[in-house]
Amino acid sequence: MAERIVTYVHHGDIVSVREDLKGRHREHCLCWRCSNFTPDDRGNSCPIANTLYALDVLAGITTPVWECPKFYELEAKQEDTVKDAHAEDAEKKEEPAE
Ligand code: SF4
Repeated sequence: MAERIVTYVHHGDIVSVREDLKGRHREHCLCWRCSNFTPDDRGNSCPIANTLYALDVLAGITTPVWECPKFYELEAKQEDTVKDAHAEDAEKKEEPAE
């Protein structure tokens, strides 16, 4: 059986949504797990996400990203940062003292 569609007011507009997905955008959207996404700093955020967001605002829609060729997992970036820091430490240890 098809999921029920409900309506509610979102950002001042009455919108329709599948009841089981209402309010669950972040759970489904890859951007929230992507190192390219900085929603509090749109000037430095992903251009794809920014374009999608502009469309969302223009049309009053909500569009999670389910597939993306540019996704880079936030945790992977954090691990890379730790690896880089360890590599820098190792290099410093190898440098002869002056
Ligand atoms: S690269 Fe893809 S997943 Fe990452 S923020 Fe941009 S649109 Fe979202």
